[in-house]
Amino acid sequence: MYVPFKFAKIEIKVYNTNIKTIKNYMALNKEQIKKFKKILEDRKTEIEKELSKFAKKDKHTDGGFVANFPDFGDTSEDNAREVAAYINCLSMEGTFGKELRDIFSSLKRINEGNYGVCKYCNKEIGEKRLEIRPASSSCVACKKKFKGEV
Ligand SMILES: [Zn+2]
Repeated sequence: MYVPFKFAKIEIKVYNTNIKTIKNYMALNKEQIKKFKKILEDRKTEIEKELSKFAKKDKHTDGGFVANFPDFGDTSEDNAREVAAYINCLSMEGTFGKELRDIFSSLKRINEGNYGVCKYCNKEIGEKRLEIRPASSSCVACKKKFKGEV
């Protein structure tokens, strides 16, 4: 028998007090998760491509990258430019690296069935917020409370 998703959600809430089950049912439906998984994987490929231009994959961490040290020449001017370029790489790596780590943990949550659920309050993050930032792991309220930003 076909049970609409919304109806199933109410049934589970009323009759099943198992937290894990509630969490899974409160998360997004299969189609929505499939959509976000695709977005996350596409973004992951994009970032890895960007990062590979100026950084090498770090085999020791999951999705980590190490910035290449550039070689422009041996004069002191060259050296100064190398350091400036390297610092620039490091900050790019930092931004992309953080996003990549968020994507990895989101993909992990999809596998675990916790995607779309706030890691702090266990409530739904909400499709609207995920549309804007698919790698979100907390709801707007908790993000404000813990980090002072959205
Ligand atoms: Zn929350």
